[in-house]
Amino acid sequence: MQIEKNKVVSIDYTLTDPQGQVIDSSKDRGPLSYLAGVGGIIPGLENALQGKSEGDKLDLTIPAAEAYGEKDPALVQSVPKHRFQGVQSIQPGLQFQAQGPSGPARMVTVVGVQEDTVTIDANHPLAGMPLHFEVNVVSVRDASSEELAHGHVHGPNGEHSH
Ligand code: ZN
Repeated sequence: MQIEKNKVVSIDYTLTDPQGQVIDSSKDRGPLSYLAGVGGIIPGLENALQGKSEGDKLDLTIPAAEAYGEKDPALVQSVPKHRFQGVQSIQPGLQFQAQGPSGPARMVTVVGVQEDTVTIDANHPLAGMPLHFEVNVVSVRDASSEELAHGHVHGPNGEHSH
């Protein structure tokens, strides 16, 4: 069975950054399942998997624009340090959830600390980065009508956590 819209696909994958560091892998928690064609995974990966079948292996580098997007300079901002009161040590690399003016909370990374201000970056941590994937297609099946109605994959016994 080939991967196309409305198939449920399970993949094993290892994601590495341009320096070859492993960022994420399915090894520890089992294959990732997604509903094809609904934007559940990054576009570059979705497109590359289109038409593939169980047992196929892919080794690909996805440009930032088709992964988590280019970095948006407007999302890098300086904020007064007093807003971080109560935080033990503010240092570059610190990540936290911040509530935006609209929409859901997003992950924000501290990228610089000055005397009175802290520079934060609300871009996705993987924005602006080409991503290397090694992917193994574990299984492809038809989505159930319930999965199609919900727009996501359910567990092997129809269970889901929402
Ligand atoms: Zn559901």
